[in-house]
Amino acid sequence: MKKITIIGSGVSGLSAACYLSKAGFNVTVIDKNPTAGGRLSKFKKNGFIFDKGPSWYWMPDIFDNFFKDFNKKTSDFYNLVRLDPSYQFITKNNVYNIPANFDDLCELFEKIEPNSSFSLKKYISLAEQKYRLSVNKFLNLNGESFSELADPSILKNIHKLNIFISLRKHIRKYFKNQDLKKLLEFPSMFLGGTPSNTPGVYSMMNFADIKGGTWYPMGGMYEITRAMKKLANELGVNFKFNEIASEFSIKKQKINEVMCNSYESYKSDHYVSNCEYPFTQLNLIDKKNRSYSKKYWSSRKIAPSAIIFYLGVSKKINFLKHHNLFFDESFDNHLSSIYKDKKNPKKPLFYVCCPSKTDCSIIPDKSMENLFILIPLSTSENPSKEAVDYYYEYVLQKLEKYEGSNIQSHIIEKASYTKKDFVSDYNAYDGNAYGLANTLFQTATFKPKISDKKIKNLSYCGHFTVPGPGIPPSIISGKIVSKTLEKKYEKTLR
Ligand SMILES: Cc1cc2nc3c(=O)[nH]c(=O)nc-3n(C[C@H](O)[C@H](O)[C@H](O)COP(=O)(O)OP(=O)(O)OC[C@H]3O[C@@H](n4cnc5c(N)ncnc54)[C@H](O)[C@@H]3O)c2cc1C
Repeated sequence: MKKITIIGSGVSGLSAACYLSKAGFNVTVIDKNPTAGGRLSKFKKNGFIFDKGPSWYWMPDIFDNFFKDFNKKTSDFYNLVRLDPSYQFITKNNVYNIPANFDDLCELFEKIEPNSSFSLKKYISLAEQKYRLSVNKFLNLNGESFSELADPSILKNIHKLNIFISLRKHIRKYFKNQDLKKLLEFPSMFLGGTPSNTPGVYSMMNFADIKGGTWYPMGGMYEITRAMKKLANELGVNFKFNEIASEFSIKKQKINEVMCNSYESYKSDHYVSNCEYPFTQLNLIDKKNRSYSKKYWSSRKIAPSAIIFYLGVSKKINFLKHHNLFFDESFDNHLSSIYKDKKNPKKPLFYVCCPSKTDCSIIPDKSMENLFILIPLSTSENPSKEAVDYYYEYVLQKLEKYEGSNIQSHIIEKASYTKKDFVSDYNAYDGNAYGLANTLFQTATFKPKISDKKIKNLSYCGHFTVPGPGIPPSIISGKIVSKTLEKKYEKTLR
């Protein structure tokens, strides 16, 4: 039986482990942290259970497909509920509750901009075609060669994909109102880019949002990790935690073993790195065996870093919904500050997740709230203690303004998380939050390759390779790497 060592138990490492094990490989996963999940982890503090990172459950079909590949259903593992409103969107002069029902959303659009419901229907119909083509074709390509794109179903529809126009320009063809434009532009932040450098093909994310819906696994997002880990255990995957990979021993362009800080080493036929690609290249591989240099990585567009506050509040906050996007300052100023000036913004936009609106199991008492507050920041600047205090005050003042009452004195648990924590917890390149941005020249075959170009028995999965950042793409990435290895070792697997 061919042995595979996966370094990292993030969602893509777990996905790869499940598929590879099912295909007949003997799989061992090692991770530097004490538990599985990577960014999809949680922590507990005095009865509050905080999801550490992801909070948006979009594209439920991808999760369903994953479990289906193992003859399971999502509901075998967790109870998924659709949120309504999907989220609250706060602009300078308005507060919008985005309804889950499409007809209700059309009505809302119509109130904001006359005739815009017709534009929305057209816009979403095209976005749906992009989504279907992506989920059925694009997202599953391994990006190894341009020839993959010569598929008749892709070529036939290429003109509909809006690949060579930015998401911003694409949206402007349909809508005039500033708030509507912002509402449709915001998912570009999930892709690590800006509305101007994200290709129009990603309007499929608007379809995912508006028609696919915003969901929540009861118990918290960590339920996804728990489910995938349980499945991996059932499939016979071995796990080793608190194991920090420090170096690959490479001979004749093949890894001989992966050495760990514990002086333990792991020998196998093939290795899959779920550590971030730049970390693997620059820290685990010696210079002569690297396919991508330091210069290459510093020329890439990386997703932002972030500051996160996890707060336990001893009272209810009536203004908040489950998801709240505070877009009441300039979106463009925020983006240009973090990407162009490489500085942290003075008046940032921010996001508040209040999952205790849906789920009482994550709070010690139902009269309380559980808050996750995120501000996207530059990867170039780690916020000082003063900056952390500044952002805390900034967010709290705004929340108190909208709520119309004091919140600060009701905060009974508080933790913050910044760039340096992304580095120490996940070896995140430059302290980024979610990988490589999906810009035009960093999409599909332009992404770093899943099969190492020099080392014959090394592959990659995760949010720096195909198909991109986010939990659903990371799950797919695990599947792609498994399919590639099944093909490579086809003869020995039979
Ligand atoms: C704050 C935040 C909010 C987000 N919000 C969302 C959201 O709402 N919805 C969504 O879909 N996505 C969201 N994302 C993105 C999503 O979390 C990631 O894209 C996805 O989890 C990446 O998974 P991964 O497996 O590629 O990487 P990771 O989760 O980073 O996993 C990498 C693993 O490698 C391990 N590792 C690293 N170095 C070593 C080493 N030397 N030895 C051993 N192990 C090592 C790490 O411990 C980790 O477990 C968010 C991310 C963040 C940070």
